[in-house]
Amino acid sequence: MYIPGKSKVPVGVKLHKLSSNESPIGPSPHAVTAISEATSKMEDYPDGSSTRLREAIADVHGLNADHIICGNGSDEILGLLANTYLSSGDEAIFTEHGFLVYRIATLAAGATPVVVKEDDCKADVDAILAAVTPNTKLVFLANPNNPTGTYLPIEEIRRLHAGLTSHVVLVIDAAYAEYVRRNDYESGIEMVSGNLNVIMTRTFSKIYGLAALRIGWAYGPRHMIDALNRVRGPFNVNAAAIAAGSAAMKDKKHLELSIVHNDEWLVKVTDALQALGLKVTPSVGNFVLVHFLEIEGKTAADANVFLTQRGFVLRAVTGYGFPNALRMTIGSEEANLGTLSALKEFLS
Ligand SMILES: *Cc1c(COP(=O)(O)O)cnc(C)c1O
Repeated sequence: MYIPGKSKVPVGVKLHKLSSNESPIGPSPHAVTAISEATSKMEDYPDGSSTRLREAIADVHGLNADHIICGNGSDEILGLLANTYLSSGDEAIFTEHGFLVYRIATLAAGATPVVVKEDDCKADVDAILAAVTPNTKLVFLANPNNPTGTYLPIEEIRRLHAGLTSHVVLVIDAAYAEYVRRNDYESGIEMVSGNLNVIMTRTFSKIYGLAALRIGWAYGPRHMIDALNRVRGPFNVNAAAIAAGSAAMKDKKHLELSIVHNDEWLVKVTDALQALGLKVTPSVGNFVLVHFLEIEGKTAADANVFLTQRGFVLRAVTGYGFPNALRMTIGSEEANLGTLSALKEFLS
């Protein structure tokens, strides 16, 4: 079971939720307006093919809308991929600190998870390729990955793809693509366009600030999009989501605001945590993985209790194979500074 980031603090203490990589900037105001307009037609079923939303995505990203599928969060699409391409006896590969939904989706499809070692919190292409067998059907790769925040340059993704046979589908989960500021990074669009066995998933839950509405999408080759459309529910994306997602996708100014905020605070938070003597895995996303000291009273579990009492809720990542780390989402200025000063007090 996937356990979401918690948000319980003592009564009377202001909550700063930094546990689910949600946007401190919130959604585009145009998305909010679009939702209120959508409420006037709630007796009608939504457009079962999310046409407006697919067209908005296609326009902004320069894609063919027929190669896009929308889902109830990208989690739904990851599940559809597993259900479509995996059955009993098949194997799906992902890395040891990979996103937990890959394991859940693989097991739910009755297939076998194959977990591959990472190299210093980073996906290791050679290790993934070494784990491929004739039973491998899917490789799930989050790029950048959650909760590590690390990424693979596009050259590494190309090398990974080149090593796979055509019966293996490469799923590139680019949930945090908009945040990445690296010249050697690509979300995977070109990889999808040039190949028949690569699909990229994206989400409105992170930088678009619309996690509550559950909107994800995938760009893939026509045969894969057709297959996913055959297995999805007929109205898998609701009308409010279609309306808000379309408006949010077109609001490039709002997107830019969120990017600028993250650029500034990702660096500030990382530097400040390191100045406190904590090890931080270098992140290109909107969160950082913070490693605590193996000292009684100063561990991640201790820090978690201390911070939660003061209203700062980070994410325990034991389930991701990090028993002594916490993942901190880049939040508002107030939340970031508050967490940093509480951590300073905790470590003193
Ligand atoms: C948050 C996240 C998602 C997004 O899930 P949604 O279902 O679209 O909210 C997908 N992949 C990764 C790696 C994530 O961290």
